[in-house]
Amino acid sequence: VKAQKNFKTVVAGDKIAVVGEFWTVRHQRTRGGCVTGIQIHHGSNINLLSQVSAAVVDHWSEAHERHPVIRIKRSADQVEVSASGHLCDRNGQPGPIHYRHIYRYTPWSIKHELTLTIAKPVTARRFCPTTIAFAAPVTHYVWGTSDFVKAKPRYMHIIGPHYDDVMAEVPDRPAVIQDDAARLWSVAFIRRGMEGIQWCGDSHAYAWNALGARRSFRLARTRTGIVFEPRLESLTLPHKLTLGWYWVLPNVRRLGRRRFNEVAVQTNPFPSDQMLDTWHRRGVDLVRIHNDEDGFRSNDYWHDGQHPPFGPAKMKQLAKFISACHQRGMKIVPYFSGWELSPDTRLFARHADEWFAPSQPGGKKRYSPNAGAGVYGGLMCPDSGWINALERNIRAAIDELGFDGFYLDWSSPLPCFNERHLPGEHNGIDGLHGMLMRLRRRYPDKHISIHSGGQIMWLFHHNLADQYVTLEEGKKQGGFTPQTPTEYPVTADYMGVGPASAVPDIYRGTDRTNLYRGLVHAALLGVPPYTYVHRYHDFGYADWRAEANDPCGVLAMMAKYARVDWSKYHFYSASTGVAQSARAAVGVAVYIGEKDGILVVGNLRGQPTAPTWASVHLAETCMRGEKITVPIPALKAWEWQFIRFSTRPPMHRR
Ligand SMILES: [Zn+2]
Repeated sequence: VKAQKNFKTVVAGDKIAVVGEFWTVRHQRTRGGCVTGIQIHHGSNINLLSQVSAAVVDHWSEAHERHPVIRIKRSADQVEVSASGHLCDRNGQPGPIHYRHIYRYTPWSIKHELTLTIAKPVTARRFCPTTIAFAAPVTHYVWGTSDFVKAKPRYMHIIGPHYDDVMAEVPDRPAVIQDDAARLWSVAFIRRGMEGIQWCGDSHAYAWNALGARRSFRLARTRTGIVFEPRLESLTLPHKLTLGWYWVLPNVRRLGRRRFNEVAVQTNPFPSDQMLDTWHRRGVDLVRIHNDEDGFRSNDYWHDGQHPPFGPAKMKQLAKFISACHQRGMKIVPYFSGWELSPDTRLFARHADEWFAPSQPGGKKRYSPNAGAGVYGGLMCPDSGWINALERNIRAAIDELGFDGFYLDWSSPLPCFNERHLPGEHNGIDGLHGMLMRLRRRYPDKHISIHSGGQIMWLFHHNLADQYVTLEEGKKQGGFTPQTPTEYPVTADYMGVGPASAVPDIYRGTDRTNLYRGLVHAALLGVPPYTYVHRYHDFGYADWRAEANDPCGVLAMMAKYARVDWSKYHFYSASTGVAQSARAAVGVAVYIGEKDGILVVGNLRGQPTAPTWASVHLAETCMRGEKITVPIPALKAWEWQFIRFSTRPPMHRR
């Protein structure tokens, strides 16, 4: 269900196609075995590359090798294509550099490993290990900068350097858009809400940064689209070097995926049966124990990295609570953190000196502070033994405690300079990526939520998780309250993979206007918000019942979501332009199914709106139909509705 079904490899003439369930990648033998084409089946299905992707050293290129040795290896859900030969000049004459390029296809990403070997070191003016040229139209890019010289202030004073993606629209005219001296962690190219590609470095950032004094990791708008090109200049290539990176192609389905209505709970006390019954009636089908601190300020919480999480008496209560959720058909998952280990755990005492992640060479342990009291934990590196301990804890929660999966927060890369892990700057990507793939393969039907709440996004997570949690922060206007859904970061509708879920920060506020406006936005972004049910007072409710019974609140929204089988629809967000409103005050988005569609309409203003209409451009959807007009009734302030319509044109129009 989660994975792409078996890959097919099709060899025809000099072309080798690796065909997955969601995308096709084409290699060309006479061009060094390099990739010349990428198609997203349920996106535009046209080639996203405007040029071959190849390593180049001065006038020698991987793509000029006409007779590479190509091997294809298949295993259960993986295909490995390897190509080797010499970097050649444009006439096909081999230079002194031998290459071996391995492409490891999994259902969630493609890992590249490029190894160059040279009899004696070569001095080069320019070395571009790879390029990725994304064909127009392209609407947005994401620049995952790791250039700490221009690091962003958020958390800087607390946990030190961290990645903070730049997400922006692509300019219309040719120009250099971004240029960093250090290898970035990722770059993505997006046709918003439709498709795209993410290039993502492996853990070994140091291997790139060590190659030359003059480095330019550059993103440019060109006439044909947008190009990412790392350039290492005036360098001496050693006898042997290996560089790695990932391509992540969106697993866009023709129709959607199941989505979840989730509440986050505490354990001191555990929620009562009555609360579970009420939430169940409101359509809640996923409960998360989010207890890495105690909302009521006791020390009796699930410390990050602790297993079993509680003492024997409380473990009995936990078992009872898990079975109470299961009796109501609700899934239940615990919270885990990819980087945090509480100093109150035995693991910390034994291993923190070995696993900790300093933010600079020779740096000390750093801690993630808890605004309530103390710290959540010290930051441990996923490229160390920490990742195996974390994986064991997650497996124990599923196998021994009976959880239905897990929720992983802090699932993003961060810099680490601990040389006991790797010989220079690294960032945990390989560790996190490897653990998530092992767990997904081990538990194909268990629930995985991945939280990338900040200004960072990782398409790999969208592909692998059952739920991608986002929108913890909004960059525009310096806060969480953009005026329209199209102003949110591209994480919400990133490449149409979904389903996403929103963190309450987008609608938090003492004035419930923020809540109601936030819910209109959530409906139009196609995200069911989750709620911390123990924080009802943050939203101006007297108790949990008042929150559950608010006819315009989060749980009322979940009840509406629960009535539709979302796996039968493909979502097109407001920013795709598939649905367009005739009135600016009324936002629209649309779900398209085989026979019908659901128009989401939302009043974006605090005053009532008059009746209006929306046009739905089916030609631009997976249904490839005509334009349909759907009437929209008058709406109260901040009101939102689902309006069903038929996608079959009336007889007389045929
Ligand atoms: Zn490390």
